[in-house]
Amino acid sequence: MEFFDFRPKPSGYKYPPSGSEKRRMILKKRFRKYDQMLFKHAKKIMKDADLKFPPKWRVVCTTRSGGICHRGIRIIEIPIWVVDGKESRLIYYIAHELAHIPYNCSGHKQDFMNQFAMLCPPEHQHYEYGYKPREAKKAGIATYRR
Ligand SMILES: [Zn+2]
Repeated sequence: MEFFDFRPKPSGYKYPPSGSEKRRMILKKRFRKYDQMLFKHAKKIMKDADLKFPPKWRVVCTTRSGGICHRGIRIIEIPIWVVDGKESRLIYYIAHELAHIPYNCSGHKQDFMNQFAMLCPPEHQHYEYGYKPREAKKAGIATYRR
């Protein structure tokens, strides 16, 4: 059994990171790597749709359960379970959130679906049926899987 050493430490002594601190540092590093990867994906999605990536926007990894597009602070959050999952779903997910960027694409109505269809490669669009099936069907979102 180990005991904590309470004796005063010389000035400048650096305490080793605690367990939770260590975990936080590892997570932070992992998230930074993920953020770069997400940004790359997002830029490619926009480029493939012949659009320029909107200035000052960031795409970041989150521990939230769902993705979100914060227009006010120009941040898109993609949940870590999506980042760790299949690449095709990740591309769909990023494209979905990117489609929320225009002011008229807040909900999941026709404007949004048009934007989404323009951004998301057709082979990944079918994931939308697992989220908003009625709206997706109405907008004629592609159903096939590759
Ligand atoms: Zn949405």
